Amino acid sequence: MAEAYRDYADFLAEHFDGKVQKISINAGFSCPNRDGTVGRGGCTYCNNQTFNPDYCKPQLSVAEQIEKGKRFFNRKYPSMRYLAYFQAYTNTFAEISRLSALYEEALAQPDVDGLIIGTRPDCMPDELLDYLSRLNESYFVMVEYGAESSCDSTLKLINRCHSWNDTVDAVNRTADAG
Ligand code: SF4
Repeated sequence: MAEAYRDYADFLAEHFDGKVQKISINAGFSCPNRDGTVGRGGCTYCNNQTFNPDYCKPQLSVAEQIEKGKRFFNRKYPSMRYLAYFQAYTNTFAEISRLSALYEEALAQPDVDGLIIGTRPDCMPDELLDYLSRLNESYFVMVEYGAESSCDSTLKLINRCHSWNDTVDAVNRTADAG
């Protein structure tokens, strides 16, 4: 029977020959749903500390966090390649000059082959997509949207402060950008 969905490991295997591991990064971003830009207080379940590894501290530079993450994984798999995973909070919520400096710092680290950028669907301006599209010509670049629900009443209940339409729009624009 055909798989109901393509799992993440199979997806990565289409892009990389060997093992790849995400390294989480906390680059010190906030979120438009916490600082009042679109909402205050955040989503009802927001607690980034629950999934951040211990080394993920915004007091450390992106390069230092990657180095610490690599030290943890390459004891087991010395030939491992890495994807810098901008995970904590909203990782597109800043001026493009600041974002590009942080993304490119990550890509400059040895054994790092690409980026995964976690963000909200209402926080992806076209200008940033253009930049990511250009970056994608040289590196693996993936954007991970927190859709959470396709039901607007649920999104309201959990205080997401964006709509399902925002998700559809962001995913379509991102797909069009490659
Ligand atoms: S969008 Fe993410 S970071 Fe922002 S409040 Fe919701 S869960 Fe927290």
